[in-house]
Amino acid sequence: MSSNRCLIAGNWKMNGILEEALEFLSELEANPAPEHVEVALMPPFTLLHSLSKPLDEKGVRLGAQNVYYEPKGAFTGSTSPMMLRDAGCHYVILGHSERRDIMGETNAVVRHKMDAAWSAGLEPILCIGEHLEERESGRTNEVLKSQLAILADVDADAALTIAYEPVWAIGTGRTASPEQVTETHAFIHQELQRLGHDCRVLYGGSVNPGNAEALMRCPGVEGALVGGASLKADSFMQIVKAAA
Ligand code: PGA
Repeated sequence: MSSNRCLIAGNWKMNGILEEALEFLSELEANPAPEHVEVALMPPFTLLHSLSKPLDEKGVRLGAQNVYYEPKGAFTGSTSPMMLRDAGCHYVILGHSERRDIMGETNAVVRHKMDAAWSAGLEPILCIGEHLEERESGRTNEVLKSQLAILADVDADAALTIAYEPVWAIGTGRTASPEQVTETHAFIHQELQRLGHDCRVLYGGSVNPGNAEALMRCPGVEGALVGGASLKADSFMQIVKAAA
């Protein structure tokens, strides 16, 4: 499996039933990924087991969109890190703004989940990002710094990917400008370095086939976390090719 620095990951969120997933897979046949871009897909839990083998055969890594931090037991409705490994996952998305804002997940909860993910051999994709009013009041770096602070005592060699997703750009069709992306990614890399980490930083927020190339060309951007445009194999693979 590829160990490329550039990763294009598709986050299906609460979308996708088996029939749609099978259609996606058959469309992938016609759109193989270029060698030097790593591709991953995060379908809903219900599709993990069915997609694991066919995606692996196509060189696409599997990830989940969330995990619970306890290993097993009386936690109705929850999924443990080992269950995700058992389903063939390599990645797990943590700290997504939808979970922070809708489900009330705090930085402390996110860190707890990251530890559980690492102990099962999963690689977290830690999402960070500011709300519109935070950007407009000049507090972007302060917010990102506080979200990254949970990495302070994490081993430098822990498997980790960061996704910078400005909340105002998620699902809105509004992307950060290349200047904003470049400036913010530079700050994130600087902050990661200060905390002793050298990990990949993706951009996320309304990435589509039309804007992917310009976004992926920004210095410090090492891939994308794609929501809406990952639901169709054709648009997702156009984004993958734009990153090549
Ligand atoms: P979007 O979602 O591409 O639909 O904006 C990105 C994400 O939330 O990961």
